[in-house]
Amino acid sequence: MDERALQLQERLAAVRARIAAATLAAGRADEPRLIVVTKFHPAADVARLAALGIRDVGENRDQEASAKAAGLTELGLRWHFIGQLQSKKAKSVVKYAHSVQSVDRPQLAEALAKAMLRAQQEEGRDELECFIQVSLDDDAGEHRGGAAPADVGQLAESIASAPGLRLAGVMAVAPLGARPEEAFEKLAGISAALREAHPGAAAISAGMSQDLEAAVRFGATHLRIGSDILGSRPPVG
Ligand SMILES: *Cc1c(COP(=O)(O)O)cnc(C)c1O
Repeated sequence: MDERALQLQERLAAVRARIAAATLAAGRADEPRLIVVTKFHPAADVARLAALGIRDVGENRDQEASAKAAGLTELGLRWHFIGQLQSKKAKSVVKYAHSVQSVDRPQLAEALAKAMLRAQQEEGRDELECFIQVSLDDDAGEHRGGAAPADVGQLAESIASAPGLRLAGVMAVAPLGARPEEAFEKLAGISAALREAHPGAAAISAGMSQDLEAAVRFGATHLRIGSDILGSRPPVG
């Protein structure tokens, strides 16, 4: 193992310990799934993480994700797309993505459905898991993306009715400057309402390096952890 792999192993162990402790503290039997967010870090790091047992990775830019995924196909990783996505990129994303966690509007769901139709005909791939990204911002100020809670029901219908797409659940990023507990409690309520109409859409993707404990407490089934495992990201160029 090289020095970087040892560093990743150590940080991964620390994050896993935090997840285990938070799961215990929440009285939950099931640990959430860990998605390691590898954006801005090289494909070599993704390979090191795979060697450490990681199966799920997250990326937020199509160009970067498609290049990494194409170079690492033999690792059998599940790629989760977690960034803002233009509809015209849908065709590219469905070539490698196991899930798109940032579906925030019907037009994107339609574009993904259309791309999946073709991908399933050509390669017979599995359904694409779709998470509805929900905005938890109360005001129009700082905005981290996502559908308004009032629009979740309709968006869920457009995903659930599209062949090739599977409605997995909800995803959110806690707003800056607010208590993450409040945000994730709100998300849990939105998830409960969604499940009344779509009982299978039980996934809650919430929790990043800074707030994973709060997310676990409020029922996260998927955590998206980047910097606490890979270190700080180089500034966006
Ligand atoms: C970058 C990113 C993460 C990971 O955040 P860290 O603070 O580095 O753990 C999680 N979710 C989304 C949507 C992201 O863009």
